[in-house]
Amino acid sequence: MKPGMQLPNNVKQLAEGESFCFSCHPEVHCFCDCCQQLELALTPYDVVRLKDVLGLTGKEFLDQYAVIEYEEGDIFPRVYLAMQNDGRESCPFVSVDGCTVYGGRPSACRTYPLGRAAWLDQKGESHSSHVVIYENHCLGFADTSRQNVVNWEKSQGLAPYNEANDQLMALLQHKNIRAGFKPSTEQRELFIQTLYHLEPFKKTTAENIGLVMSDTALLRYAIHWLTNELFP
Ligand code: SF4
Ligand code: SF4
Repeated sequence: MKPGMQLPNNVKQLAEGESFCFSCHPEVHCFCDCCQQLELALTPYDVVRLKDVLGLTGKEFLDQYAVIEYEEGDIFPRVYLAMQNDGRESCPFVSVDGCTVYGGRPSACRTYPLGRAAWLDQKGESHSSHVVIYENHCLGFADTSRQNVVNWEKSQGLAPYNEANDQLMALLQHKNIRAGFKPSTEQRELFIQTLYHLEPFKKTTAENIGLVMSDTALLRYAIHWLTNELFP
């Protein structure tokens, strides 16, 4: 977490290069116990990857699998994965064999047991730090396999997630927001439409100026476009 932040007892800050013991695999007794009773926030890039695995548009994905919340004090709406009403609040993608959207699983699923905090300094340069989150039910910590942040993130394919999430951070931590900017209802809707639906943005904005690109590149452009639109 950002230096100076107080951490709960089950969360340990990792120094640079520090290792931790952890391994997760289908043979652990707790396999998929962590895929229920979750508050799983989805970033725009999470939705790009999930919708591709499921063969849906961004809007179809949000309609079927997401809850959008906006609470007093929030700047922009938050998007969460909607859990099943099965008495265990299971993730809609968990099965007895594991995650059915493994190739597109969200960044939070990939990052655990780590937590990653990223922030911009006053010059606009990004920084990150990591913690280990010890959950009692998670038997992965009993394994003696040693991991470190670099190897863990590599093994979980986190590079494009971190890159896209850090690009979004430049919008979420924009100096105008720190100065008190509050989006209007229309601007909050634009945030969801532009970054999470993506398809309308592609049709009305990107294709209009002749841009043809992957959804990953499109999202990068959409973040840049929305930042200029909100903070001209
Ligand atoms: S070891 Fe931890 S992360 Fe892996 S399945 Fe069990 S609870 Fe989930
Ligand atoms: S997306 Fe996959 S890994 Fe993440 S909570 Fe759901 S089933 Fe588990």
